[in-house]
Amino acid sequence: MSAESYLQGLAMFVQLPVPYHDEVLYSVIARYISHLELQPCPVTRALFGRMIKAQIRFPGGLGALAARTYFSWGRTANEIANDLTLFPYFARYLEPERADRCLELMKGDCCTVVHARIGASSRTVDSPRNLLFCEQCRDEDISLYGETYWRRAHLLPGALVCTKHEQVLLNSSVSPRDRAWLYFDATACAQESCTPVISKADIDTSMALAVSRRSQELLYGFPLDWPAANVIGSYRLAAARCGFARRLRVLSLPDIAAAFHAFYGESYLTLLGCQLSGNGHWLRKMLEPSRPVIWHPLRHVLLQLFFESYANGSVLALERTSESWRCPNPYFQHEQPFPITPYLLKTRKNGLRALSARCPCGMRFTFSRVCISDPRLPIIDSVRDFAPSWAAKLKDMRASGLGRRKIASQMRLPYASIVKLVSEIEPIVELEQRRALLRAEWLECLSKVPEANRRLARLANKGLYEKLATLDPDWLSMTGTTRTKLRGLSTEDWGIRDNQWAERLEKAADKLWQLGSVQRITRTKLILEADLKLWTLSKLKHLPRCRLVLANRVGKCSRNFPSRARII
Ligand SMILES: [Zn+2]
Ligand SMILES: [Zn+2]
Repeated sequence: MSAESYLQGLAMFVQLPVPYHDEVLYSVIARYISHLELQPCPVTRALFGRMIKAQIRFPGGLGALAARTYFSWGRTANEIANDLTLFPYFARYLEPERADRCLELMKGDCCTVVHARIGASSRTVDSPRNLLFCEQCRDEDISLYGETYWRRAHLLPGALVCTKHEQVLLNSSVSPRDRAWLYFDATACAQESCTPVISKADIDTSMALAVSRRSQELLYGFPLDWPAANVIGSYRLAAARCGFARRLRVLSLPDIAAAFHAFYGESYLTLLGCQLSGNGHWLRKMLEPSRPVIWHPLRHVLLQLFFESYANGSVLALERTSESWRCPNPYFQHEQPFPITPYLLKTRKNGLRALSARCPCGMRFTFSRVCISDPRLPIIDSVRDFAPSWAAKLKDMRASGLGRRKIASQMRLPYASIVKLVSEIEPIVELEQRRALLRAEWLECLSKVPEANRRLARLANKGLYEKLATLDPDWLSMTGTTRTKLRGLSTEDWGIRDNQWAERLEKAADKLWQLGSVQRITRTKLILEADLKLWTLSKLKHLPRCRLVLANRVGKCSRNFPSRARII
């Protein structure tokens, strides 16, 4: 009798381990497979009654899983979805009927459509490329339990920092694209050599920490000031309270976008996949919806923290009017670190207090808030006079063909201030001159991509392509090539790979064997040691020699193999 049919016959005896705090279902199954040293396919069949892909965020077949494990594991399908998946995070701001439909899909057999229906499709917000983990959490787990696991809180989109240790998370070697039929155990994949998901210099850790905390509050269902019913209405109300309402309570969206951009910064928003590009950016659509849209929870998180910043400490700092401040002009070398002293405090109609300030560099502006990461750096509300150094920088940017909105976003300034300055310093650029500039830029862009491919060049610089498509469509269609590269490898290519990789695997297996300190040699360990990617495992049908090496070398134990805590 094969192991598979044996396990199917014993389905009622499948006994999954007790989940650790905040563990994801995927991790529980991965630990189970690793503890009992089983093959993933028969286990999948025994757990779900059929073959089903190893999903991390929204696993399917939960109804079958609950029915088959209830006597040993004691969890209903609803409990599994709410406690062991990312479903509650995504369902927080969904209409109840839609959330129920998604839950039914996860309980049923066909769950591939859940991603799109729940608002998690990759078109909206970038998902992490790899499963993430915290180094300190891992070390604590190993000393407590002898193993570690994948936590839900570390798999939330936009959560880049561990809220317990305030540490930047690390990339493991497992990419969600490797999922297929395999389950990767955290103990084997969360290694010393993993790299941080971002370098500390790239972001403001306090901001990332705030985003991680709020994401977890959504996941765990903590009460928030933002009700699920009509949440967009409460954002609009908050925007009006923060002073973004103009006549007849119409919101000024460009000002909100500029302030939002200044608050988070371009690099952080790009990192999260939430940048505001073009006129029809997501923030505009979210605050002025023309039709009901499902918004990714990360966007709710960013918007909530932004509006809350008006009501908390960053505004209170303005009470200290006698203090001196840092100058927000980055294009001038200031001799003193805090050259600005405000000279006028005003209370606006909406009750917000604003300060007028001037700097020896020539800047004269008003501000009502300060940067969250640096409480002595003002965020500019409007500019009265530009410093000559700032105006010179703006001239350079205009000369390189950048639009005013783009400049406003890069300089983190209100659009109206940029419009005012541009009209002061610049003669109107002739259409022909502008066209020539754009053409030159496009040709340079084409020269940088393989075979001067137009599609690749467009992907590299979407804004430029769109401008030329409006100004100069005929010329644009004659440039570059349109040939696309064929995807996939030929049989010969696979053969060459197979030989090279099999040798690497042999060498890696020898090395692991000789080291003597490793535990049982697993497929994952061997692949990683040979410096190959884990997706190799899903391509083994093209790699017969590698398959053979794995079959021969995996499962061997070295002499002093320490036994691992088995918690079942
Ligand atoms: Zn941690
Ligand atoms: Zn200055």
